[in-house]
Amino acid sequence: MWIKGKIFVDGITEGCVGFDRRIKELKKECKPDLKFPDDSLIFPAGVDMHVHLRGLRLAYKETVASATSEAVFGGVGVVVDMPNTSPVIKDPATIKTRLAELANYARCDYGIYSGVTKEDVDSLPIAGYKVFPEDLEKEELETVMKSNKLKILHPEIPLSLRPGRGNRRLWQEIASIYLVSGKFHITHVTNIETLRLAKNQGFTTDLTMHHLLVDGEKDCLSKVNPPIRDLTERRKLIAGIFEVDAVASDHAPHSSDEKELPYELCPPGIPAVSFTLPFLYSLAFRGLIPLSRVVELTASNPSKILGINAGIIKEGNVANFVVLRRERWRYSTRFSKALHTPLDKYPLDAMVYATIVEGKVAYMDGDAYPVRGSNVFDKTGRT
Ligand SMILES: [Zn+2]
Repeated sequence: MWIKGKIFVDGITEGCVGFDRRIKELKKECKPDLKFPDDSLIFPAGVDMHVHLRGLRLAYKETVASATSEAVFGGVGVVVDMPNTSPVIKDPATIKTRLAELANYARCDYGIYSGVTKEDVDSLPIAGYKVFPEDLEKEELETVMKSNKLKILHPEIPLSLRPGRGNRRLWQEIASIYLVSGKFHITHVTNIETLRLAKNQGFTTDLTMHHLLVDGEKDCLSKVNPPIRDLTERRKLIAGIFEVDAVASDHAPHSSDEKELPYELCPPGIPAVSFTLPFLYSLAFRGLIPLSRVVELTASNPSKILGINAGIIKEGNVANFVVLRRERWRYSTRFSKALHTPLDKYPLDAMVYATIVEGKVAYMDGDAYPVRGSNVFDKTGRT
């Protein structure tokens, strides 16, 4: 299969990409098999290192099919799922069950993290481990710290889990960085101090768009962990766009019944996996950040951190592309079971026209298609 147009390789160039499930060849001229509108731009599809796809017993909140359809609507080709589902994913049996569910229903490529565990799961095809704040007190952390696989740290110390969200000060986030060592990635940093400290300690980092953009935690819709910081912190975090290694969505859907509970009782989480790429490409289209920086944040850097052959349009990499157009629209989710986010109606200038996953059209012009993604961490799987 061939596609032709303005393609981001080292910058935008006119040309063609030939692929099946992997990219085979880049050349100047070809007869394309798929036609896109003339003003389209072709980039590597997004790699989102931090999502909660739900499914299993939490399918009432979101299913793997609805979450991954939402991901491809947002130009994301790979999602890596967190283990705090029901049941929790942290032993060989639950890992196999989860991978089987994703093999059947994921409409983009995927990976999973295991929870912190004493069980030997290191030889299974997982992306690594998720370390939650409460895990920092557990003995089992020792086992996970010894693994060579990637560990994702939610950087808040256990103290910050106790009541009183207002008391969740920045030092509680910063403190956890001193408790870990080795191959750690610090996820959803909410303030520039945590980001800089993590980088100084040699860790990689990501941030979410909601920690930059959502105007305070006002209601259940904007309730999230870690909490949205105040305006001063959020303003300082804007510099993080130029310093952080990657962006992630922390897509965390809940049912509308749950989000309608009183504020003290409703579960935290913002479901906006499809917002990240359109927002960052909008900034680039307005001339506020270079296109190359958006590709780094959304695709090439997360691929490097995860150690997968994705995120750059080059021979041998997985054939995952996002086709974007410059178009005015206001954000809303399209396929997720979660119908509302605090980013609803956010004005955007970039719209995903199509997302290609492993050489197949997963989303185009309003429709998602039931393509099958695969586990990008399964070295023995289909290639
Ligand atoms: Zn999360």
